[in-house]
Amino acid sequence: MSYHATEAVTLRRWRTQEADALYLLFTESLGKVTAKARGVAKSTSRIAGMLQPHSRIHVILYQKQEDQDVLSVTQVSLVRRYSRLQGNLKSLSLVACAAELIDFCTGEGEPNPVIWSLLTKLLDFWEENEATEAQLAAFALRILKETGFEPHLAACAKCGVQERSEWYYSPERGAVLCPGCRRTERLALSGTAVVAMARLTAGERLSALHLKEQDVKDMLLFLDEHIGYHVGQRLRALRVLQQISVPPDVTK
Ligand SMILES: [Zn+2]
Repeated sequence: MSYHATEAVTLRRWRTQEADALYLLFTESLGKVTAKARGVAKSTSRIAGMLQPHSRIHVILYQKQEDQDVLSVTQVSLVRRYSRLQGNLKSLSLVACAAELIDFCTGEGEPNPVIWSLLTKLLDFWEENEATEAQLAAFALRILKETGFEPHLAACAKCGVQERSEWYYSPERGAVLCPGCRRTERLALSGTAVVAMARLTAGERLSALHLKEQDVKDMLLFLDEHIGYHVGQRLRALRVLQQISVPPDVTK
């Protein structure tokens, strides 16, 4: 048996039988882990609030046997709550996309200091600043690179041509094709969006780019397709984000 003391961010929570709950945590020293907390549904539970999704906490996890999949939460203390971020539907949807992406792209028990740093910096930034789709796209591209799902955006995957005003995404190749090489690929992307995504993947700061609204839309459409095909799961929180981003129809 062993005890692990680590910082963590709660990615999501499931209720189980009785008063217990399961939490998916991304921890600093163990990577992604599933942990059970006892008695959190009781009104007297002090730790339930601290374990709320997207809070940054310090936990002590108990592992009875080395091959045990679900650890037990024995102690929790709050590092940062992110209450401003939690209080806004759009920023909450954006952070839910980021949490789903980390869940889908990482395996349990694989520590990754780069992902830990990207996640905690993103949460800190969104607590102090307005959360945007462009920042989510930049974060997603870095996570995809870090976890081996990096798309190929520097040139046409067939003929190698660079610098086109329009590209088509090929899910099978995880790459872009120029209009001349395109066959049945349907998702069109602007040249500026593809260049921006290549630069963001390489680690360039978002503030160095001058993105238009359409570029960001293209980036999100691309990420939805690429993640769905290569990671194998669609970001459900992206659907919520799209719904709340649609302006109300005043004609109805
Ligand atoms: Zn080509």
